[in-house]
Amino acid sequence: MGLGAHATMERSETLQIAEIFKSIQGESTWAGLPCVFVRTAGCNLRCVWCDTAYARDGGTPMTVDEILQRVRELDCKLVELTGGEPLLQAATPVLARRLQEAGHTVLVETSGERPIEVLPEGVIRIMDLKCPDSGECERNRLENIRHLKRCDEVKFVLASRRDYEWARAQIAAHELAAKVNAVLLSVAFGRLEPAQAVKWMLDDKLPARFQLQAHKFIWPPETKGV
Ligand code: SF4
Repeated sequence: MGLGAHATMERSETLQIAEIFKSIQGESTWAGLPCVFVRTAGCNLRCVWCDTAYARDGGTPMTVDEILQRVRELDCKLVELTGGEPLLQAATPVLARRLQEAGHTVLVETSGERPIEVLPEGVIRIMDLKCPDSGECERNRLENIRHLKRCDEVKFVLASRRDYEWARAQIAAHELAAKVNAVLLSVAFGRLEPAQAVKWMLDDKLPARFQLQAHKFIWPPETKGV
């Protein structure tokens, strides 16, 4: 196949999209910055505290070109691909590369169940490690840990003391604090008091960063598209 034909094929590749919108980044070390979110539809996990159940199926097919056009209209340097689970979409690596070529800083938020190394160099992966009380702990693809880079971030969502102890053990066993830009701990909204989680972290001098989901305090917690 010639280069031209390859480029044409890439442009016509489609992804299932739940929504594309501009907001501020609510999580990670990028929190507080304006960001365009491309939320893919479809997820193969069922975390008990999932706050984007509306994006676990359905969606509208959009070509890579159509997505790029919409992102261009929203006019923002930072773009996050999220879901659902963006790595279930075969065209996500192509979309990420095209966004980079258009000058964007690209974040990909993933459950960590799919291989992360398919993403192009320079894409920042914000990868979950699913704790036991999510109900999806066995789905963690632990091979992903060796593909993490210094620019990446690892996130644990805690719903209990059991989750906290599991996260603490993973941080130590995989030396995560030395491996990535940030180890993020947050609480499942309404299931664990932030003050409790923070106390445990301080007691243990845990090498991690506590975060609240800023968008849940700016807008009513159930609001979509923020
Ligand atoms: S991985 Fe994300 S979208 Fe999928 S069920 Fe869990 S929280 Fe929901």
